[in-house]
Amino acid sequence: MVRAEQVHKSFGSIEVLKGIDLEVRTGQVCCLLGPSGSGKSTFLRCINHLEKINAGRIWVDGELIGYRQRGDKLYEMREKEVAAQRRAIGMVFQRFNLFPHKTALENVTEAPLLVRREKRAEVREQAAPLLGRREKRAEVRERAAALLERVGLGDRLHSYPSQLSGGQQQRVAIARALAMQPKLMLFDEPTSALDPELVGEVLDVMKDLAREGMTMIVVTHEIGFAREVGDSLVFMDGGVVVEQGNPREVIAAPQHERTKAFLAKVL
Ligand code: ATP
Ligand code: MG
Repeated sequence: MVRAEQVHKSFGSIEVLKGIDLEVRTGQVCCLLGPSGSGKSTFLRCINHLEKINAGRIWVDGELIGYRQRGDKLYEMREKEVAAQRRAIGMVFQRFNLFPHKTALENVTEAPLLVRREKRAEVREQAAPLLGRREKRAEVRERAAALLERVGLGDRLHSYPSQLSGGQQQRVAIARALAMQPKLMLFDEPTSALDPELVGEVLDVMKDLAREGMTMIVVTHEIGFAREVGDSLVFMDGGVVVEQGNPREVIAAPQHERTKAFLAKVL
C-alpha cells in the first residue's frame, strides 16, 4: 500500500530526511517512533505531498505521489491531481483543529464548504472529507452521523468542540478524516496532546480501525499500542531508519544503542 524509496527532504541547507525506505502492506499498521526532531512528521507530510521531497519516490496504492512518470522521466503533477491523491489519505494531527463554531456533525459534513475557501493546503487537506464528491446533503449527513456513531459519539452530534473533551474532539477529527473514505490513514502523535485519562478512548478507536483492516502509519510514543496493534515498528533517528521489525521483538530486544536508549526513556 505504501512504499517509500530513498526519500530525502531538506529545509534550506538542513537535511531532515536522509534516505528513508519503508514499506507498509495493505491492512497493516506501521508505528513510527523516534526522538523529537528525527523527521517523523516531515516524513508523514511527504507521504501526502504536503512536503515536496528532494529525492526518492513514494507510492501509495501503486500510485507515485506527486509525480507522473513518462519513460524514465518524472513530471510534477498539477495541484489538482495532487489534491485527488491526497483525498485518499486521511491525516490526523496532534491538535484536532476542528472548526470551533461548527458542531461535531458539521465538522464532519460541512468542513469542505469552508475548506474550499481556505487557502492553506494543510487546513484544506485535513478537512477535505467530502470535497469533490457530489453527494446529496442528506446522504452526507447520514454518513457523517454513522461515522460519529462509530467513534462513540453518536450522542454528541450537535455538540460544539468547546463542549467536548480533548479525546472526544480527537475522535471527531478521526471521523472527519474517515469521511473521505481514505485508503490510508496517517496519524501524527494523535494522543500526545491529551490528558492521560483520555488517551485510551482515542487508541481504542484506532484499534477498531486497525481491526477493520485500515492501513495506518502511526507516529506514537504509546509503546503498548505499538506492541498490541502494530504489524511493524520503525525507529527513526536523525532522518534515517535506525531499526525496524516486529514491534514485540524490537521492543523486547532492540538491536541498536539508539533504539535501546530511546525505548528506555519512553517505557
Ligand atoms: P517531534 O517528535 O518533535 O514532533 P519530528 O520527528 O516529528 O519531531 P519533524 O517535525 O519532522 O520532527 O522535524 C524534523 C526537523 O526538521 C526539525 O529539526 C525541524 O526543525 C525541521 N523542520 C520541520 N519542518 C520544517 C520547515 N517547514 N522548515 C524548516 N525546518 C523544518
Ligand atoms: Mg512531529
